[in-house]
Parts: sequence; C-alpha cells; structure tokens
Amino acid sequence: MKKRTGEILALLEQAYGSDIVCYLDHENAWQLLIATILSAQCTDARVNMVTPALFAKYPSVEALAGADQKELEEAIHSTGFYHHKAKNIIACCRQLLERYGGEVPSDIDALTALPGVGRKTANVIRGNIYGEPSVVVDTHVKRISRRLGLTKESDPEKVEYDLMKELPKDRWIAWNLQIIAHGRSICKAQNPLCQECFLQKYCIEYAERKKC
Ligand code: SF4
Repeated sequence: MKKRTGEILALLEQAYGSDIVCYLDHENAWQLLIATILSAQCTDARVNMVTPALFAKYPSVEALAGADQKELEEAIHSTGFYHHKAKNIIACCRQLLERYGGEVPSDIDALTALPGVGRKTANVIRGNIYGEPSVVVDTHVKRISRRLGLTKESDPEKVEYDLMKELPKDRWIAWNLQIIAHGRSICKAQNPLCQECFLQKYCIEYAERKKC
C-alpha cells in the first residue's frame, strides 16, 4: 500500500469510524439480497421505505418465489425498473430454493449466477452477511476512488480489482461504508464541497481543477 493511501485510510477512519453498518435495512441474508437488488438505480432511503411492507407481504424466500409478478411489481414500483426487478427477484428466489434449499450462498460465482445479482450485490452479501473481505463498487465508490486517483477505470469490475490491489484486505468492507459517508456529506457527485474536504490534498480532481 502506498503511503498516501495509508494516510487517506487513516483520515477516513478518523472522520467516519470503522463500524460495519449496512445502509439497507434487513434481518437476514435473503432480505439483504432482495434489498440490494432493489437498490439498483435507487437510493437506499427509498428501498428502506419499501422493504418493510414488502417483507411483511412476502415473509420468506418461498413466498417471493411464488409471487404473482404483477403484484410484486406494484409492491416495489417506487424503486424504479420494477418490471425487471420483480422478474429477477422471483427467478432468484426460485433458484435459491432449487439449488441452495432457500439459503443465500457465500461464494462469489454462486451469487453472481443468480438472476439480478451482479458483483456489487454479491459483494454486499459477502461483506455484510459472511464477513468475507469484499470491495463493493457503487456510484460513490467509483466516483470518489477516481477523484482520489486510486483508479482510472470506469467499469465497476475494473475499479473493484484496482481497489483490491491498492487497499489492505482488512479495509475492503469499511472502504465502501466510509466512502458512501464521504460521498453523501462532502464529495457529492455535483458540486462537491471541496473547501470542507479533509482529503483535498490527496485529490487528483481538485488539483486539476485548481490548474484551470
Ligand atoms: S477535494 Fe473535492 S472532489 Fe476531491 S475528494 Fe474532496 S470533496 Fe471530493
């Protein structure tokens, strides 16, 4: 790990702590899996508004596997892309029952073979449920990792591999949580609050903007 990366990590830890908190409300692995599928192109806050009623109506993997697609679409409508999400959730839960007895697997290949489950969702499950070191690349992680010069890539999978190379394994899970906190409070997508940012001296994008 480069010295500057170590300094960035120390500052993030100081600002946001290292408690592992999941931003998506859930009580078990399958609920987190469904909540993460719903979070595609949607805010965590919106997903957290939808899931209590959703999990009350469908209280098990079996219930979701047997759901009527139209009814499920109505229940998740406000998260967007509801047609695809409903189709994937039903297919995913059917495969969980057929292949894993209704349990959520921890293996990355097994997870990403499930309908609607990409590397981001798989890594959320691995990190939050199974405590497996994993780098979750969401919109905040991609944007801020690029701004800080830890990757030049845009493809989330390539960003993930760059971060796995650069960050110590015991910081992989915390990186996502701390960077989301930084992205929500300071390093916003539009109009980042650079004057308030404790990472300013490490920021490639800020340095380039200053040159202009
Ligand atoms: S200096 Fe600005 S762009 Fe760079 S990390 Fe901080 S808030 Fe983001």
